[in-house]
Amino acid sequence: MHTLRVHDKEFEPYLTAAEIEQKIKSIAADIDRDYQGKRPLFISILNGSFMFASDLFKEIKIEAEICFIKLASYKGTKSSGHVITAIGLDIDLIDRHVIILEDIVDTGKTLSEFLPQLSHQHPLSLKIASLLHKPEATVYPIKIDYLGFSIPNKFVLGYGLDYDGLGRNIREIYQLVG
Ligand code: 5GP
Repeated sequence: MHTLRVHDKEFEPYLTAAEIEQKIKSIAADIDRDYQGKRPLFISILNGSFMFASDLFKEIKIEAEICFIKLASYKGTKSSGHVITAIGLDIDLIDRHVIILEDIVDTGKTLSEFLPQLSHQHPLSLKIASLLHKPEATVYPIKIDYLGFSIPNKFVLGYGLDYDGLGRNIREIYQLVG
């Protein structure tokens, strides 16, 4: 694999398609084991997690459901600034075992604001599966129950993740050079 130019930036190969595939199979096996008979509901957070969600869901062998939501951020009246709301969450979470699917947890801000909103709906359980995590970027600590890869604090693209709209269709994950 060679370096890749997207818009004005140079990216180098970081994770191969085979490494990603292997990790996803192992996460799916863990979830199958932990959720046998529980019919979990996966909630995939768009856009970035669509590829992870699709590949992971194909590997799940137990009964399970999936839905897709988008998070919108708008300026709230509170001093905290932005408020995050879910668009398209039309399934009742009460008494459900919910697993959030994220592409990457960076500062943790998105999930730290969104998770309490889900908890208010009283799911039976609420867990997080994220393909990537940047521990060094943590501002809001998030417990990731099923993690693909811990990565350095560098911008990545590919496998659903974009740089200014481009790169989502790449099968591998690339890292910003420098
Ligand atoms: P957080 O709220 O945890 O800081 O950020 C989460 C969101 O930021 C991710 O869902 C993703 O959309 C975006 N993000 C964070 N780091 C990266 C990265 O290295 N590459 C890309 N493409 N998006 C990122």
